[in-house]
Amino acid sequence: MIDRNPHVEKLHADYLFGEIARRKSALEQRCPDAWVISLGVGDTTAPIAPVVAQAIGEAAAAMSTPEGYRGYNEGFGLPELQQRIASRLYEGRVSPDEVYIGDGACPALGRMQLLLGSGCSIAVPDPAYPNYLFAGVVVGQTGAFDESTGHYQGVTYLKCTPENGFFPDLASTPRTDLIFFCSPNNPTGTASSREQLQQLVDFARANASILIFDAAYRDFVRDDAIPRSIYELGGAREVAIELGSFSKLAGFTGTRLGWTIVPHELTYRDGKPLYPDWEQMQISFFDGASNIIQHGGIAVLGDQGFEACRTTIDGYLSRAALIRETLTTLGYEVYGGEHAPYLWARVPGVSSWEAFDRILEQTHVVTTPGVGFGPAGEGFLRFSAFAADRDVSEAMKRLATRTV
Ligand code: PLP
Repeated sequence: MIDRNPHVEKLHADYLFGEIARRKSALEQRCPDAWVISLGVGDTTAPIAPVVAQAIGEAAAAMSTPEGYRGYNEGFGLPELQQRIASRLYEGRVSPDEVYIGDGACPALGRMQLLLGSGCSIAVPDPAYPNYLFAGVVVGQTGAFDESTGHYQGVTYLKCTPENGFFPDLASTPRTDLIFFCSPNNPTGTASSREQLQQLVDFARANASILIFDAAYRDFVRDDAIPRSIYELGGAREVAIELGSFSKLAGFTGTRLGWTIVPHELTYRDGKPLYPDWEQMQISFFDGASNIIQHGGIAVLGDQGFEACRTTIDGYLSRAALIRETLTTLGYEVYGGEHAPYLWARVPGVSSWEAFDRILEQTHVVTTPGVGFGPAGEGFLRFSAFAADRDVSEAMKRLATRTV
């Protein structure tokens, strides 16, 4: 037998969603007739647009014909999909051969971390989507988890709270090799401004750092003044890798499809470009996303598919607006939800978990304790608008009539 990988040994048990599920099922056992409504998860709930499902079905049917059958992928994605991403989503700011099609932002992040290696120092937001750290810990970019601070040793945490406009104080931020950032943001639901993101790009350039920009929620942005991609900012092509996903754009959380942009200008310290190594990773560790699903991606980025996805996202945003309005009326201090499916509400005087329990007990509504995304999330709850209209309306009625 072998010893456990010492880096894996460092992982702090991430019990957030397991614990939420445990408390929810305890309630359901105590109150079997309760209609428990979940505004807690970050998974999409609306069905895939029919035009997209049809394209997936046709691609699957074609695989049963001699002419339509395809084996291993050639290249790094179906050329038409790479082309549509470059033109529709990036308006030519990236070229199709810089678009690497994959099975989602999260697995691409893991492969990227494996490539960049254990020698990299990292900066991650606090609070943040937990997987930035998970991959970093496993490849050995962090020290041990410190229970007293709730942080891994050796990691630079970029505190993002209402006090600093959910944007780190870069003047006091030390240099790291990698900087992770996400806008529109999970969990806070806030979107960074053009000025803020330009500061981040300038900071990465000044420090010769690589910025790993997570744009998983880009299609929730409803104001063209807010960047949907890091490449809208000057100089980003030299320092930024962008992670993109069809998960929230088109409801592909289960079918899996995403992309990574690695610009040709992005180099290592010695001036050699990074993208050939990324191509080798794609070939050796992955070998491409399902071509059946890639046909779905092509349909998402056609006129009809894109319009249908936009309508679905508008639905999520209108539910986010209702949550925002209700919580604000109830006196909560609320952030986000305008260009993202998440809202971030302060729960004064109680911990995140206490607030979670009270709301669950009194209204049978499941939220997410902010502290689960990092210590800077303590004292907040995340509400997700990934739910049906009926569920959100009912949940808001219950919150509004809550007596305690
Ligand atoms: N990035 C963020 C910020 C997310 O919230 C999520 C999923 O919730 C992902 C990435 C994962 O995306 P994918 O489904 O493409 O792996």
